Amino acid sequence: PLVLGIETSCDETGIGIVRGRTLLSNTIASSMAEHARYGGVVPEVAARAHLEALQPSIAAALAEAGVTLADLDAVAVTSGPGLAGALMVGIGAAKGLATGLGVPLYAVNHLVGHIAADILAEDAAPLEYPTVALLVSGGHTSLLLVRDLTSDVELLGETMDDAAGEAFDKIARILGLPYPGGPEIDRAAVSGDPDAIRFPRGLSRASDLHEHRYDFSFSGLKTAVARYVEQQGADASVPDIAASFREAVVDVLVTKALDACARFDVPRLLLGGGVIANRRLREVATARAEAAGVTVRIPPLSLCTDNGAMIAALAAELIASGRAPSTFAFGADSTLPVTEIQVAEGVPA
Ligand code: ATP
Ligand code: MG
Ligand code: FE
Repeated sequence: PLVLGIETSCDETGIGIVRGRTLLSNTIASSMAEHARYGGVVPEVAARAHLEALQPSIAAALAEAGVTLADLDAVAVTSGPGLAGALMVGIGAAKGLATGLGVPLYAVNHLVGHIAADILAEDAAPLEYPTVALLVSGGHTSLLLVRDLTSDVELLGETMDDAAGEAFDKIARILGLPYPGGPEIDRAAVSGDPDAIRFPRGLSRASDLHEHRYDFSFSGLKTAVARYVEQQGADASVPDIAASFREAVVDVLVTKALDACARFDVPRLLLGGGVIANRRLREVATARAEAAGVTVRIPPLSLCTDNGAMIAALAAELIASGRAPSTFAFGADSTLPVTEIQVAEGVPA
């Protein structure tokens, strides 16, 4: 099916068009620059920017895909989690579009969308199940056991405090790097030594593993970096701190993900979310998974951060597995749990 996906959960207005598992276009307009001077996303500003960007983005995505509105078989939209006001703009547009075109509407979970991005990787074979999935984004850090992306996602563990992306953003601020911090730290780390400073790996001690084997914590790491910077003052090497911090985050993410693969006897790992754009994380996950006999799927860079194509891809999977469209009885759910893959699923016809 030809599906148009709308993503407006944060500061990216993402419009993606897929035909089944094939990516046709992926247009992203970001209001990031408008938020940069505040050091974080301002919800009101984001919502207004979505309102302005939606129509031109839809037009651009259709043109790039070489299709027209009349060709669409379905519309998909992110219904949560995210900023309520921002989500509502996309939801309103999606309901209007689906009504006007007389096509089904699929309201889906943004987080499951991040994982679904793997489907669109070039030469993407269908996903094999079960698979462990590591979701690392600006607001979430979760380890999942996926038996079926359209119907069965189990949460194994998640962060007890900051999300990994949030930690990148906060550490960047401490180091005087601009927002968003993830890409900045990635860049600064290139010339640094990852072994220069041994920063803590949260919830990795034997005493923590019993209760928190698949949970994450990044607040201790954040404090350790802040203290180090304070102590070193002008002597602190930003590249060394960036590289050592990045290494600590990557190490704990990959270690726990592969531990879950071993424990559940699942030789497959999916990665998803904005932090998966991190070069060191891609490298370490690839190398260690191979050593462990685990097949790892990593979305291309353009599909890691927020986009509409991942939303369309998830809806296309739901359609392929015979799921009924959503009724219009849904709104924005800012705290939608990752286990709720589709919202307001209707009764199959
Ligand atoms: P969520 O998906 O949890 O609702 P979000 O949509 O805001 O949150 P994403 O867009 O998935 O998050 O990811 C954005 C996050 O990814 C930011 O915190 C950003 O710093 C981080 N990020 C982006 N590129 C990199 C990178 N190269 N290295 C590390 N982090 C990165
Ligand atoms: Mg974003
Ligand atoms: Fe996201």
